[in-house]
Amino acid sequence: MTVDYAELRRELVERLEWLGVIRTEKVKKAFLKVPRELFVLPSYRREAYEDTPLPILEGQTISAPHMCAIMCEALDLNPGDKLLEIGTGSGYHIALCAEIIQGDKDASNGILVTVEIYPKLAKFAKENLEKAGYGALVNIVVADGSLGAPTRISFDKILVTAAAPEMPPSLIEQLNPGGRLIIPVGRFYQDLKLVIKGAGGEIHVKSLGGCVFVPLKGEYGVK
Ligand code: SAH
Repeated sequence: MTVDYAELRRELVERLEWLGVIRTEKVKKAFLKVPRELFVLPSYRREAYEDTPLPILEGQTISAPHMCAIMCEALDLNPGDKLLEIGTGSGYHIALCAEIIQGDKDASNGILVTVEIYPKLAKFAKENLEKAGYGALVNIVVADGSLGAPTRISFDKILVTAAAPEMPPSLIEQLNPGGRLIIPVGRFYQDLKLVIKGAGGEIHVKSLGGCVFVPLKGEYGVK
């Protein structure tokens, strides 16, 4: 029996809108476009549109769709943004971001960088992103992202998809004035924090509620 993934994707988007986690047209369009079935392990393809995290390689998980939606909405992604993700995993979340930032063929000035600590996952994500048509839009770097991205540029938006015991200072530094950073902070259960940097560099932090992510590794990660 063949599976109608596009239909399952539409049903998932309806549920996420009903839950109130997809709130804007731009996020909705991205969810309708990105094929999550290409970012899960082949043995989990049938579960690709369940609203749940699923195992990938190295004991890591692809985040639940509702969590990706909450984070995309809170970041207020826009065409042309410079975005940094820490925790590439499957590549699904950065594909959603790429769809919003670079989906419009005229908006070609955005930048998407994603940092992954496990080479095997960086390779997995690269293959997934290529299959789904986002290979050319996303720069994958293998490094310890708890130290920030090993790039000279700073970013308008930063998305951290692993739980940090505390806010990594290098990430605050790499955020442009007027920028937004979203990060789960805590050990076993986390608080999803939205950091907004004011035009003068002042930091405002808002709590968006409880969440559970895999631990951030590395220098500013969970020891
Ligand atoms: N955004 C991913 C979810 C990934 S789960 C997706 O859409 O599938 C968290 C990821 O963070 C894992 O792949 C893990 O290996 C990675 N990670 C953990 N600590 C890291 C660090 N210090 N630097 C970079 N990546 C890290």
